[in-house]
Amino acid sequence: MKRRLLLQGLAVALAGGTARAQTHKATNRMDKDIATLQRDWKTLLAQNASVATDTTPVTKTDEQWRQSLDPAAYAVLRHEGTERPFSSPLNLEHRAGVFVCAGCALPLFTSAMKFDSGTGWPSYFTTIPNVFATTTDTKMILPRTEYHCVKCGGHHGHVFDDGPPPTGLRYCNNGVALRFIPAKA
Ligand SMILES: [Zn+2]
Repeated sequence: MKRRLLLQGLAVALAGGTARAQTHKATNRMDKDIATLQRDWKTLLAQNASVATDTTPVTKTDEQWRQSLDPAAYAVLRHEGTERPFSSPLNLEHRAGVFVCAGCALPLFTSAMKFDSGTGWPSYFTTIPNVFATTTDTKMILPRTEYHCVKCGGHHGHVFDDGPPPTGLRYCNNGVALRFIPAKA
Protein backbone atom coordinates (compact mmCIF):
# COMPACT_ATOMS: atom_id res chain seq x y z
CA MET A 1 0.00 0.00 0.00
CA LYS A 2 1.37 3.36 -0.92
CA ARG A 3 1.85 5.61 2.03
CA ARG A 4 2.52 9.28 1.94
CA LEU A 5 3.30 11.84 4.55
CA LEU A 6 0.46 14.11 5.40
CA LEU A 7 1.18 17.62 4.34
CA GLN A 8 0.17 19.94 7.10
CA GLY A 9 -0.81 23.24 5.66
CA LEU A 10 -3.23 26.05 5.84
CA ALA A 11 -5.47 26.84 2.93
CA VAL A 12 -5.89 30.56 2.91
CA ALA A 13 -8.42 32.38 0.79
CA LEU A 14 -7.31 35.92 0.15
CA ALA A 15 -9.93 38.49 -0.69
CA GLY A 16 -7.62 41.34 -1.68
CA GLY A 17 -6.94 44.88 -0.49
CA THR A 18 -6.97 45.54 3.25
CA ALA A 19 -8.50 42.14 3.91
CA ARG A 20 -5.53 40.57 2.16
CA ALA A 21 -3.04 42.40 4.38
CA GLN A 22 -4.94 41.49 7.55
CA THR A 23 -5.30 37.86 6.52
CA HIS A 24 -1.59 37.67 5.82
CA LYS A 25 -0.81 39.07 9.24
CA ALA A 26 -3.18 36.69 11.03
CA THR A 27 -1.94 33.69 9.05
CA ASN A 28 1.67 34.48 9.84
CA ARG A 29 0.85 34.67 13.53
CA MET A 30 -1.00 31.33 13.45
CA ASP A 31 1.84 29.67 11.54
CA LYS A 32 4.23 30.89 14.20
CA ASP A 33 2.03 29.57 17.01
CA ILE A 34 1.88 26.11 15.44
CA ALA A 35 5.62 26.15 14.79
CA THR A 36 6.20 27.05 18.45
CA LEU A 37 3.88 24.27 19.68
CA GLN A 38 5.65 21.75 17.46
CA ARG A 39 9.17 22.94 18.23
CA ASP A 40 8.76 23.28 22.00
CA TRP A 41 6.81 20.08 22.71
CA LYS A 42 9.61 18.71 24.92
CA THR A 43 8.89 21.41 27.50
CA LEU A 44 5.77 19.33 28.34
CA LEU A 45 7.67 16.05 28.64
CA ALA A 46 8.23 14.87 32.23
CA GLN A 47 11.84 14.51 33.28
CA ASN A 48 13.05 10.91 32.99
CA ALA A 49 9.94 9.93 31.00
CA SER A 50 10.48 6.66 29.19
CA VAL A 51 9.74 7.47 25.55
CA ALA A 52 11.09 6.57 22.11
CA THR A 53 13.69 9.11 21.05
CA ASP A 54 13.81 8.34 17.33
CA THR A 55 11.56 7.03 14.57
CA THR A 56 13.63 3.97 13.66
CA PRO A 57 10.98 1.40 12.66
CA VAL A 58 10.00 -1.29 15.17
CA THR A 59 8.96 -4.54 13.52
CA LYS A 60 7.25 -7.43 15.26
CA THR A 61 5.08 -10.27 14.03
CA ASP A 62 1.34 -10.00 14.58
CA GLU A 63 1.64 -12.62 17.31
CA GLN A 64 4.39 -10.65 19.06
CA TRP A 65 2.20 -7.53 18.97
CA ARG A 66 -0.75 -9.49 20.32
CA GLN A 67 1.34 -10.66 23.25
CA SER A 68 2.86 -7.25 24.01
CA LEU A 69 -0.28 -5.08 23.89
CA ASP A 70 -3.49 -5.19 25.88
CA PRO A 71 -6.37 -6.55 23.78
CA ALA A 72 -8.08 -3.19 23.16
CA ALA A 73 -4.83 -1.50 22.06
CA TYR A 74 -3.94 -4.51 19.90
CA ALA A 75 -7.31 -4.38 18.09
CA VAL A 76 -6.93 -0.68 17.27
CA LEU A 77 -3.21 -0.42 16.59
CA ARG A 78 -2.71 -3.63 14.63
CA HIS A 79 -6.14 -4.21 13.06
CA GLU A 80 -7.53 -0.69 12.63
CA GLY A 81 -10.27 -1.18 15.20
CA THR A 82 -12.24 1.75 16.61
CA GLU A 83 -12.96 2.14 20.30
CA ARG A 84 -16.45 3.03 21.50
CA PRO A 85 -16.95 6.81 21.60
CA PHE A 86 -16.73 8.40 25.09
CA SER A 87 -15.04 5.23 26.40
CA SER A 88 -11.54 6.67 26.79
CA PRO A 89 -10.50 8.38 30.03
CA LEU A 90 -8.23 10.53 27.85
CA ASN A 91 -11.30 12.46 26.65
CA LEU A 92 -11.28 14.11 30.08
CA GLU A 93 -7.50 14.39 30.41
CA HIS A 94 -6.74 18.10 30.78
CA ARG A 95 -3.39 18.05 32.56
CA ALA A 96 -0.24 19.34 30.87
CA GLY A 97 1.81 16.55 29.34
CA VAL A 98 2.61 14.39 26.32
CA PHE A 99 0.61 11.64 24.59
CA VAL A 100 2.80 8.80 23.31
CA CYS A 101 2.07 5.78 21.11
CA ALA A 102 0.84 2.81 23.16
CA GLY A 103 2.70 0.55 20.73
CA CYS A 104 6.19 2.06 20.76
CA ALA A 105 6.23 5.11 23.11
CA LEU A 106 6.91 7.62 20.32
CA PRO A 107 5.67 11.07 21.45
CA LEU A 108 2.76 12.05 19.16
CA PHE A 109 0.80 14.95 20.68
CA THR A 110 0.99 17.37 23.60
CA SER A 111 -1.77 18.69 25.84
CA ALA A 112 -1.39 22.04 24.05
CA MET A 113 -2.49 20.39 20.78
CA LYS A 114 -5.66 18.83 22.27
CA PHE A 115 -9.18 20.22 22.01
CA ASP A 116 -12.65 19.02 22.99
CA SER A 117 -14.31 18.00 19.73
CA GLY A 118 -17.42 16.57 21.41
CA THR A 119 -17.07 13.45 19.24
CA GLY A 120 -16.16 11.12 22.10
CA TRP A 121 -12.60 10.54 20.94
CA PRO A 122 -9.46 12.42 22.04
CA SER A 123 -8.91 15.10 19.39
CA TYR A 124 -5.94 17.22 18.38
CA PHE A 125 -5.51 20.06 15.88
CA THR A 126 -1.87 19.30 15.13
CA THR A 127 0.82 16.75 15.98
CA ILE A 128 4.45 16.60 16.99
CA PRO A 129 6.21 16.84 13.57
CA ASN A 130 6.98 13.82 11.41
CA VAL A 131 5.38 11.16 13.61
CA PHE A 132 2.54 10.02 11.37
CA ALA A 133 2.12 8.68 7.85
CA THR A 134 -1.26 8.41 6.15
CA THR A 135 -3.24 6.15 3.84
CA THR A 136 -6.61 6.58 2.18
CA ASP A 137 -9.18 4.41 3.92
CA THR A 138 -12.07 3.42 1.63
CA LYS A 139 -14.00 1.27 4.13
CA MET A 140 -16.72 3.92 4.43
CA ILE A 141 -18.69 5.41 1.53
CA LEU A 142 -16.62 8.60 1.68
CA PRO A 143 -12.87 7.95 1.65
CA ARG A 144 -11.13 8.96 4.88
CA THR A 145 -7.51 9.72 5.66
CA GLU A 146 -6.16 7.12 8.05
CA TYR A 147 -2.96 7.92 9.98
CA HIS A 148 -0.49 5.66 11.68
CA CYS A 149 2.68 5.88 13.75
CA VAL A 150 5.84 6.05 11.62
CA LYS A 151 7.82 4.01 14.16
CA CYS A 152 5.61 0.95 14.81
CA GLY A 153 3.07 1.33 11.99
CA GLY A 154 0.24 1.24 14.55
CA HIS A 155 -3.11 2.68 13.43
CA HIS A 156 -4.24 5.65 15.54
CA GLY A 157 -7.26 7.21 13.84
CA HIS A 158 -8.42 9.45 11.01
CA VAL A 159 -7.73 13.09 10.24
CA PHE A 160 -10.54 15.38 9.10
CA ASP A 161 -10.59 18.96 7.83
CA ASP A 162 -13.33 20.18 10.20
CA GLY A 163 -11.05 21.05 13.11
CA PRO A 164 -10.65 24.41 14.85
CA PRO A 165 -8.26 27.22 13.95
CA PRO A 166 -5.41 27.62 13.49
CA THR A 167 -5.00 24.43 11.41
CA GLY A 168 -8.61 23.47 10.64
CA LEU A 169 -7.56 19.85 11.19
CA ARG A 170 -9.05 17.28 13.56
CA TYR A 171 -6.93 14.27 14.42
CA CYS A 172 -9.55 11.88 15.78
CA ASN A 173 -7.49 9.44 17.85
CA ASN A 174 -8.39 6.23 19.64
CA GLY A 175 -7.56 6.72 23.31
CA VAL A 176 -6.41 3.10 23.76
CA ALA A 177 -3.71 3.72 21.15
CA LEU A 178 -2.21 6.43 23.39
CA ARG A 179 -0.49 6.63 26.75
CA PHE A 180 -0.49 9.95 28.60
CA ILE A 181 2.56 11.14 30.51
CA PRO A 182 1.77 14.11 32.78
CA ALA A 183 4.37 16.86 32.74
CA LYS A 184 4.50 16.76 36.52
CA ALA A 185 3.82 13.68 38.64
ZN1 LIG B 1 4.04 3.63 17.52
